[in-house]
Amino acid sequence: MEKTLVIIKPDGVKRQLIGRILQRFEDKNLKIVQMKLTTLSEALLNEHYEHLKEKTFFEELIEYMMSGPVVVIVLEGENVIKKVRQLVGVTDPQEAEMGTLRGDFGLNKTQNLVHASDSLEAAKREVSEFFQ
Ligand code: UDP
Ligand code: MG
Repeated sequence: MEKTLVIIKPDGVKRQLIGRILQRFEDKNLKIVQMKLTTLSEALLNEHYEHLKEKTFFEELIEYMMSGPVVVIVLEGENVIKKVRQLVGVTDPQEAEMGTLRGDFGLNKTQNLVHASDSLEAAKREVSEFFQ
């Protein structure tokens, strides 16, 4: 069965939105198969966001992702990668549709509440990155 990696980012944990975010995935009948509360290291984040290294927002992004605990989750289900990206909404919360997590709760382009894998390849790599 297909799997995807989701991270409830530090703003989501700080604002006590963990329950409401998980509810959206459970409502869609997606199954939580792994989950942990953890604080991410700079080394792991550099690896995870390697492809964004040249971007102007890279340092701000790493600082933010290290600013507090996150919840890392593996979800499983049919077409789960696409379904989760739809539930999450586009990167910028100002552009994200209402009814999506970022549209409803996201603060700005950096503090946008959740990460979700964007392809089968990324999902496989990210699940093994975060759960050895
Ligand atoms: N990001 C940012 N500024 C931008 C674009 C992205 O701070 O202009 C951050 C944001 O937290 C985003 C992450 O970098 O979630 C990864 O960017 P990506 O383009 O992969 O967006 P996503 O797949 O998360 O929608
Ligand atoms: Mg991405």
